[in-house]
Order: sequence, then C-alpha cells, then structure tokens
Amino acid sequence: MVDRFTGNFTQQEPIPDDAIEAAVAVLRSGRLHRYNVAGDDPGETALLEREYAEWQGATYCIALASGGQALQIAMRASGVIHGDQVLTNAFTLAPVPGAIAAVGGVPVLVEIDENLRLDLDDLEKKAQETGAKFLLLSHMRGHLCHMDRLMRIADGAGIKVIEDCAHTMGATWNGTRSGNFGVAGCFSTQTYKHMNSGEGGFLTTDDPDLAARAVILSGSYMLHQRHGAAPGPEVFAQIRLETPNMSARMDNLRAAILRPQLRGLERNVLRWNERYDAVAAGLEGNNSIRLPVRPEAETGVGSSIQFRVPGFSRDECQALVRQAGERGVELKWFGAAEPVGFTSDYRSWQYIPKQHLPRSEEVLSTLFDLRLPLTFSVEDCGVLARIISETVSGVR
Ligand SMILES: *Cc1c(COP(=O)(O)O)cnc(C)c1O
Repeated sequence: MVDRFTGNFTQQEPIPDDAIEAAVAVLRSGRLHRYNVAGDDPGETALLEREYAEWQGATYCIALASGGQALQIAMRASGVIHGDQVLTNAFTLAPVPGAIAAVGGVPVLVEIDENLRLDLDDLEKKAQETGAKFLLLSHMRGHLCHMDRLMRIADGAGIKVIEDCAHTMGATWNGTRSGNFGVAGCFSTQTYKHMNSGEGGFLTTDDPDLAARAVILSGSYMLHQRHGAAPGPEVFAQIRLETPNMSARMDNLRAAILRPQLRGLERNVLRWNERYDAVAAGLEGNNSIRLPVRPEAETGVGSSIQFRVPGFSRDECQALVRQAGERGVELKWFGAAEPVGFTSDYRSWQYIPKQHLPRSEEVLSTLFDLRLPLTFSVEDCGVLARIISETVSGVR
C-alpha cells in the first residue's frame, strides 16, 4: 500500500531530442527573429504556422508570443474597441478577463454549471440584457459546452465568438476541433499546456480580413508576406496602413521546439486521456465525489481533472487540501478566500465591474482540480485517485 504520492504535479516531460536539435540549429544560425530568414528559407515560424493551420483545419494561423496575446489580438482583430462589453465565463483563468481589460473591453461574466461549462440560459439572458456583441468563450479545463446550441444563441444575437482553447488544443465537439466554431481560436504553448515552448500561442481563423489584421497587430512591420498561413497581399492593401503594431511575435527558437511536438500531439492526447480515465475510474467509486459529466459529443484532452465534493463545508475543503497535501497530492481548491498559484476566482479580479454569480460561486466552493502531467504513469494515476478517495472519506 502506497501512503504517499511522490509524483511532481508541475513536472512536464523533457523537450524531445529532435526539438532540441532543431532549436540548436536555430541558435547556431543566429537567425532567431522570425523575419530574419536567409534566401528562400521560410523559417521555422512560418513553417509552424502552415503545419498548425493544417492540423487544426483552419485556413489561417498566426504564431504569437503567448496565449494571452492571441486573445487580445483576436478581440482587436474582430472589432472590440474601448468600452465594448465582452461576455465571458465566470470560471476561467486570469489572462482571460485580463485580455479583455487590456483591449479596453468590459467583462460581463456568465455563470457556469456544475459540469464547469458555460450556463447557456444565463448566456442568453445576459446577451439580451447587455446587448454585448462579443463572447470570449473559455473552454476552461477542457470542458466544451454544447457548441451547436451556443453557436445558435450567438448567431441569433449577432455575437462574435472568440474561443479560448488554452485547455482544448486537440479536443473536438462532434468531430469539429475546438477553435473552429467561432470567428477565431486562441491557443497557448506555455509550459503547462499541450505543447511546451515556455511561452507562445496561436490564433487561427478562416476570415481573411481578421487574419490580416492579426498579422499586422502581431508586429509584422511590412513583412506580412513572410507568413506561413496568412492571406495574400491584396487583403493587406489597406489593413496594413490602418492597423497598429502590438509586437507579439513568436520567434524561430520557439517554433523550432514546437514543430516536432506538433507531430507528437495526437499521441499525447491519447496518453492524457488514459491518465484522466485512470483517475476518474478511481474516484467514481466514492459517493461523496462528483466528476463533471462529459457529453458524448465531446472528445477532451485530460491534461487535468476536476471533481466536486458537494456538501463539504469550507473547513472540510481546507482539511481535504491539507490532508491530501500531506500524502503528496497537490489539490487546488477554487473556493479559497484568496487566489493561490494558478487558481482563479472572479471576485479577485477587482479591476472589472463588481458582479455576483451565485451559481458559479456555489459550484466553485467545493471544486478541486489537479494537473495530470505526462510524467505520471497510468499506475501513478490509480494511486492518486486512491489517496484522494481515502482522504475525502476520512474528512467526512
Ligand atoms: C494559460 C491560459 C491562457 C493564456 O495563456 P498564456 O500563454 O499563459 O498567456 C488563457 N486561458 C486559459 C484558460 C489559460 O489557462
């Protein structure tokens, strides 16, 4: 019987050898800036854009400095201006409301349900009440909401949807990849996401004007024709003159690290899901624990797992975090009074107008979260689940 879990929740796998070799080649060339390419060489960043667009099934892809920059650029490129209201999830990570604030938008928070998806009735209500024309939809922790219904609501109200796919790179709804529903999809390649370049991001879209604005916003100077998956010069004729440069480019070093990882992504999605299933199977037997119900139409990426313990008091939640921690299991609790680490509570975003989301608060008050890095074996995941289940039973 293992009493203590010894895995490290923040330890990702090493960068693959072929990616390291590609990175060293870029370093040796000295040509790190994406537009600093020799002769006809498209450069690593442009090649990555082409490959990611193809993998994602999007017409255009722009490689960027971060996922947060992808969100900001997607909003600006789709027309958000100072003072615009932007609907978004009450449960998401700080860069999402942060991106809205950065472009001068005003976040309007929408409730989530007990399965951590956007509450579509509340979305309809708030869309009507506010007249907001944008939704920054965060597929938080990989939970896709009913995308057909969501798009019907958005289309009916003339709302442009920008998808935050930081946790759903590789996930699908009815066979369509997340990121391909709205006007733009935004992805992160920051260390804790599904590909790791330290920092980085992508914006994908099928709209040529949006793509051209995003290229110029990303800081392309007048070198937009050196992109890998961008529209032709005619689309840029006017846009290049009326769009500001926000300098948020990806560089060739990061792109070199990411291209081999993209080739392994599909396999890693399966590996994450094996781990998710192992933890889920171990928790399902405990009657006090509720896992989010995953709809048939959704194929997620189980790089993290969430569970609720309905009925637990604050003291019991705290005891669970402490006791699981003593056995080596790092649980994040979304009900804590102060945000800790990467947890996130909308009440701590004090730069946005004060809002009250009773349903989300109720859900978050007993919600726990843990990362499942690929350095955990499937066996490790069974041990993890057993420790959590025993600790929950012990606290009750
Ligand atoms: C990580 C993350 C982002 C932004 O990614 P960065 O690359 O860190 O800027 C956006 N949304 C969510 C939900 C995230 O977890």
